[in-house]
Amino acid sequence: MPINNCRLVTYSPAYTIVPTYECFNRCSYCNFRSEPDKSPWMSISDARSILKPLQSEKVCEILILSGEVHPHSPRREAWFRRIYDLCKLALSMGFLPHTNVGPLSFDEMQKLKGVNVSMGLMLEQLTPTLLNSVHRHAPSKLPEARLQQLQWAGELQIPFTTGLLLGIGETSDDWWETLEAISNLHQRYHHIQETILQPHSPGNQQTFDAPPFNPHQLPEVIAQARKILPPDITIQIPPNLVKDDLWLLACIEAGAGDLGGIGPKDEVNPDYPHIQEQALREILQPAGWELVPRSPVYPQFDSWLSGELQTAVKRSRNAMLLV
Ligand code: SF4
Repeated sequence: MPINNCRLVTYSPAYTIVPTYECFNRCSYCNFRSEPDKSPWMSISDARSILKPLQSEKVCEILILSGEVHPHSPRREAWFRRIYDLCKLALSMGFLPHTNVGPLSFDEMQKLKGVNVSMGLMLEQLTPTLLNSVHRHAPSKLPEARLQQLQWAGELQIPFTTGLLLGIGETSDDWWETLEAISNLHQRYHHIQETILQPHSPGNQQTFDAPPFNPHQLPEVIAQARKILPPDITIQIPPNLVKDDLWLLACIEAGAGDLGGIGPKDEVNPDYPHIQEQALREILQPAGWELVPRSPVYPQFDSWLSGELQTAVKRSRNAMLLV
């Protein structure tokens, strides 16, 4: 994005709602999932109560993040309907929904496009070797199924966020291969707005016994990713997973232009509290970087949205002075 030439770093003022933590996958590094009988689904009235006080706060994006119900489960339709209704509710209350709920059918994606300004799915890593380790019990992590999602998002003209999870048993060559796959799909559809580089950061719930991804390696991965990805894809890093201020600045100097959604809780990494906006400014400003809020859809994708969504985005950008 050209804004990065002006030493601007973006973030999205966000709040995450979780329709359910239940998930039929068992990724061994997961710190999010619950067993199906341990996670009642969020009701629409509970969601309304959560969202109401946020209307007077500086929140723009509602990230809808969910564990997955199996595509062949008789409960899948109700799960999907709840996600759809939560998006509609968020929109009706003046927020901009961004859904990331695992692989969807083409039809499900198409329906969610109507109530989301952007959507996301981590590619994580394309190497099939992980199917014998961290993804042994995670059918949703089939690399070709996830690539297919990115392709469908392109076909449907859905502004999309994807990313890599670093340090789960892959090699450095695997990173470049995954980044090249993202780059190739983007050159075909021009729909990837951000690629997240997320360092594995061990949490209390996971069974995967491995050290955290070395944050000192992150700047060089970002620099190489910057060379592989087209310039109109922004690189995003989660600042709460790059503990050291100097390394956070090194990541930004290396080409990370966005810090993602900042809200009260990182649901995927609950052991790593988000650094809030003011604290981030205090790290960035002395080094000459300005932190600016952005919308969950980048302006170049506005024309892909329905008239109703475009109006919602315009209202939100004006009210919150978003880029
Ligand atoms: S990482 Fe995602 S897909 Fe894997 S078990 Fe956790 S919630 Fe499910």
